[in-house]
Amino acid sequence: MPAHTPITGLESTFAREVPGLTVPWQGAHAPQPRVVAFNERLARELHLDVEALRSAPEVLSGSTAPEGSSPVAMAYSGHQFGGYAPLLGDGRALLVGELDIDGRRVDLHLKGSGRTPFSRGGDGLAVVGPMLREYLVSEAMHALAIPTTRSLAVTTTGQDVLREGPEPGAVLARVAASHIRVGTFEYAVRQEGLVQPLADYAIARHYPSAEGDYLAFFGAVVEAQASLVAQWMLTGFVHGVMNTDNTTISGQTIDYGPCAFLDAFDRSAVFSSIDHSGRYAFGNQPAVLQWNLARFGETLLSLIGPTPEEAIAPVTAVLDTFFERYERHFNAGMAAKLGLDSVETALVHDLLNIMERGGLDWTGTFRALSRGTSSVDAEWISRWRALGPSFDEMDLVNPLYIPRNHLLDAALKAATAGDLGPFEALLDVVTHPFAQRDEWAEFTRPAPQEFQTGFQTFCGT
Ligand code: AMP
Ligand code: MG
Repeated sequence: MPAHTPITGLESTFAREVPGLTVPWQGAHAPQPRVVAFNERLARELHLDVEALRSAPEVLSGSTAPEGSSPVAMAYSGHQFGGYAPLLGDGRALLVGELDIDGRRVDLHLKGSGRTPFSRGGDGLAVVGPMLREYLVSEAMHALAIPTTRSLAVTTTGQDVLREGPEPGAVLARVAASHIRVGTFEYAVRQEGLVQPLADYAIARHYPSAEGDYLAFFGAVVEAQASLVAQWMLTGFVHGVMNTDNTTISGQTIDYGPCAFLDAFDRSAVFSSIDHSGRYAFGNQPAVLQWNLARFGETLLSLIGPTPEEAIAPVTAVLDTFFERYERHFNAGMAAKLGLDSVETALVHDLLNIMERGGLDWTGTFRALSRGTSSVDAEWISRWRALGPSFDEMDLVNPLYIPRNHLLDAALKAATAGDLGPFEALLDVVTHPFAQRDEWAEFTRPAPQEFQTGFQTFCGT
């Protein structure tokens, strides 16, 4: 292997096995690419040549395709805020190829790499703040053991991109179990003969035990997504833009545009500037996920029954298991957060109501409970203590450090102005969420009230 080849062995099984869903494409030229964030640990996990990759900004920016690779832009549709958009697709992204890591296939993908046939009115570009945001939050999610796409690098391109003003252009190199979305199925089912090869491919790649059984495949995705959204709810994570094109078949969290973390527990919390109706409010996430899975189920009808009409009943029966599955994951997670083997729903509901009424900090309260310093009502505390919770076990699952909105905001502002220090410090903290360090005390504090009141997120363009 020549030393100057940073990535070798990229394959294109998706483009080859599911024709009609990809367009061969190349990244835009980056005049002066510079790596500003690089995930050495992930690069090692992927068996990549760390030094060669770190010094190949032209490859990480998409300006040069890795030798032997055949990058493509992927087609997909999606329901955005409930309305159907028949053609979205990678408008500013490319699937560079797939790596086989000890039998596990992952996508290497670029976001912000220039216009594609799916760009519609967009410029195909991304700016450094939002790309670093995705990098940091996805790595924090991974450290919290929540299934997610990963971030390998952020590379600035050397070219300003016009948003509200000029901002440094950047490309995120992302790694995912795959980039097949509910929206990919919504697109495929409207083309002749595409949904079955797509389903067969997704089954082989993600749920091989469901081979030949499309209803079992649907059930496996329902289960993976029920588990995922339960973990979001347990962590106070607000995705912010749960369109069907941002719902993966693999069960990984994808797309960290307008996401945020709760400070005060509030089921109605909405941060995204474009979510006027609160469709993607924190407390709505499980119901929205089930709605997205209904859209997914619809795309499989022709594969499941002799006629679509006959498939509706079995698909609906599986869809109806969503909340049961969600509750099971959520209750198991809450039991663990409370240091118990199992927990009654009433105890959890009472705690949530107390926290919501009192505006208690979601993340901080669980650590305070194990320390006996929380401001939860004494009556609830005595009911809970009577169950014999393990405080040590609580501290293993309740994070101390999450990407607090105000800290992330400040770090991204500094990074956009050229100072990566606060970003790097915060990244270090949130990728070590559980073990307490005295010098990190400030990172546990909720945002000041005046920040919380006006805080909004934007769809990462
Ligand atoms: P997202 O909100 O990031 O999930 O993106 C939704 C759709 O908009 C996808 O099809 C993206 O490729 C497309 N998109 C977002 N930003 C841009 C951009 N700057 N240029 C072109 N397409 C974009
Ligand atoms: Mg998206």
